[in-house]
Amino acid sequence: MKNYPRVRPSIAALKPYSSARDEFDVDGDFIFMDANENPFNTKVNRYPDPYQSRLKNKWAPLRKVSEDQIIFGNGSDELIELILKVFVEPREQSILCMNPSYSMYKVSAAIHDCKIALVDVDANFDIDMDKIIKATQAQTSVIFLCSPNNPTGRAIPLADIKVLLEEFDGLVVVDQAYINFSERYSALELIKEYNNLMVLETFSKGIGMAGIRLGVGYANPELIAIFNKVKPPYNINELTQAYALQGLDNYQLIQKQIKEILEQREKLFKALVKIPCIVQVFPSEANFILIRVDDAELRYKQLLQHGIIVRLRNKELHCENCLRISIGTSEENQQLIKTLKTLK
Ligand SMILES: *Cc1c(COP(=O)(O)O)cnc(C)c1O
Repeated sequence: MKNYPRVRPSIAALKPYSSARDEFDVDGDFIFMDANENPFNTKVNRYPDPYQSRLKNKWAPLRKVSEDQIIFGNGSDELIELILKVFVEPREQSILCMNPSYSMYKVSAAIHDCKIALVDVDANFDIDMDKIIKATQAQTSVIFLCSPNNPTGRAIPLADIKVLLEEFDGLVVVDQAYINFSERYSALELIKEYNNLMVLETFSKGIGMAGIRLGVGYANPELIAIFNKVKPPYNINELTQAYALQGLDNYQLIQKQIKEILEQREKLFKALVKIPCIVQVFPSEANFILIRVDDAELRYKQLLQHGIIVRLRNKELHCENCLRISIGTSEENQQLIKTLKTLK
């Protein structure tokens, strides 16, 4: 087993803020006079559990991990920022990302004032691990892989991810926000084997709770402990924790919706390939489909005039004239197809 990736010295030395609820949990039978809260019960008058124990207790078995391998974030976007704070020395170290990929890595890197190296995917949207390894430098401390990738819908084989984990000594992040829609693999099984892996998931896509802002990070307990030191003490609010707990009571409904979205993806794919203004439909392992049309700006505007909003992605590498379409309900998808067919 490898050593843990090196964290910033200031983080290693950090003595974390100790919150009142770190010491005593509000579930206990006490009179709470320690946190300057309002004593009248409104259900939200107390600070939330800083470590979300009940939620972890419910979520861990669903992902077959232990609770100390989990960190929740205020969306996975917060976890991306935390990763930079823990591992990347501003102005000295850098991160490496795939191009094209989720644009939040770039934004977070700019905020954090660190450089970002981009490694291009090929015309089939595949990414070559040798190319990534060659592009790493002494100052590269984190590599962000996105699989299935946004906006391409293309996934990276697990064997390739393993190669990178073996070859690279910094942190490898696998952002699998769309894993619920891919039948192929989950990188989660690798966290026991690799100290330098962090896997990101989110409640925003497959789980259907984008509005509550809940992201999940998984890693070895030692790494999770460092993240717990750095995260804001009450980053997951009481309403979010309560709503997630309640929503997970009906996990079967969530699974049913995912299945339905997958069926719709199949149907939509078959319908899209027959439409005259569409040049190419890319296979997807996510809940969206990337298409290449004859004139992306024109088709985007026409769809908008018909009340349908898709995402223009034509400025991305290998995505000339491309639009990204999220899978809707059966009715929404039919409406889209009907409209696309009429476009002149
Ligand atoms: C949508 C998306 C996320 C989600 O971020 P949240 O902050 O959890 O909503 C993360 N990564 C990728 C690649 C995404 O497409």
